Amino acid sequence: MRTVFKNGRIIDPSQELDVVGSVIVEDGQVVDLGEDIEIGEYDELYDCEGLWITPGLVDLHAHLREPGEERRETIKSGTQAAAAGGFTTICCMPNTSPALDSPSLVDFILDKAASPEAGGIFVQPIGALTKGQRGLELADLAALKKAGVAAVSDEGGPIQDASVMMRAMEFCLQLDLPIMVHSEDLNLSEGGCMNDGPTSAMLGLTGIPRSAEEIMIMRNGVLALNTGCRIHFMRISTWGGVEMIRQFKYLGAPVTCEVCPPYLTLTDEHVGEFDPVFKTTPPLRTEIDIDILMQGLADGTIDAIASDHSPYAPYEVEVPFDEAPMGMSTLESTLAVTLTHVTHKGRLSPMETIRKLSTAPAEILGLDAGSLMPGHTPVAQITVIDPNLEWVFDATRTFSQGKNSPYHGWSMTGKAVLTFCGSEVYRCAHFDEERYELALP
Ligand SMILES: [Zn+2]
Repeated sequence: MRTVFKNGRIIDPSQELDVVGSVIVEDGQVVDLGEDIEIGEYDELYDCEGLWITPGLVDLHAHLREPGEERRETIKSGTQAAAAGGFTTICCMPNTSPALDSPSLVDFILDKAASPEAGGIFVQPIGALTKGQRGLELADLAALKKAGVAAVSDEGGPIQDASVMMRAMEFCLQLDLPIMVHSEDLNLSEGGCMNDGPTSAMLGLTGIPRSAEEIMIMRNGVLALNTGCRIHFMRISTWGGVEMIRQFKYLGAPVTCEVCPPYLTLTDEHVGEFDPVFKTTPPLRTEIDIDILMQGLADGTIDAIASDHSPYAPYEVEVPFDEAPMGMSTLESTLAVTLTHVTHKGRLSPMETIRKLSTAPAEILGLDAGSLMPGHTPVAQITVIDPNLEWVFDATRTFSQGKNSPYHGWSMTGKAVLTFCGSEVYRCAHFDEERYELALP
């Protein structure tokens, strides 16, 4: 089986490659790419004129909710949403029910993700750092690593006790297992439902101070510096957090970090209508935070863009703001929001955009993804993007079961139009059928 992606702008940060040319896939693997290459015979041809051909997008941070919370999302619906959003590899967070703290649950997720009815993309489980995500006793990390987790995380139950976290880091260093940290001091954030500031005061809602995040970034950064354990800061939201991580990197701490599009596009003022889709953790901040986060992306302090896809069932979010759960359904909007509000506004080049959405996240966790180089990944992972496609995001028409998107009705410029993973292909409705040819036998 020979598949040709012809005449597109190939953007591959793993090779610093940005040329107009073709990519050839044979039996599920990239075998050649570049300008002026011989296309030869083919079984399938995609005409990518005016489109980008990039390594499949990689998401470091998604909640697939299975096992135990299938009312919100399943591995099937979540991977279909990921494919529609241009992702070929996604990492799923361990705060399921039960928490992902045993090898048998890792096997369960890998089996479900590989089943024919799933979205045809790769799911990389992230293990629970502590038993039951309770933040007290370490899970069997060696067994989790053996079962195939790429990292462990305290997402959903951030470890409060610094001595427990230090022990965890010392242990993970021995295992060469990165920790993905959710930085939140639960005493400072207790009872809060939005950013603490003039808007929360005006609305009469309890605020979460930025210190709740920054104190934990400082603590975790200091522990990483002193233990040498690799730490990945998830979904940072404050300008102070960016400055601290910049300093930790300068000091040589083995840290990386991600930002999620809502923190680049929305502020606490969006909460003004008490709409629960604007409730998330950490909370939406302010314009100054957006500005510094954008600078951090551009100067490399922020390594990756992740979705923090957090779907909920409709009945869970149709409640008063202060009772609503925290999180947003974002797998199908992450690329489009990034292109529209970061790339097209000149904050990141196309190359840097793809680096943050594919090559860098793959490198952070050492995943087989993020590159079009022949032989780099066991199977080809390719995303074709129309950078200029104008469309309107409709949360009611997503693959994700979670319709809790803050971007419903937003105009977008740019979309993944084709996601190719091995032999599985997702083609979005916007992909022009005339661009697709099947060679006749
Ligand atoms: Zn999350």
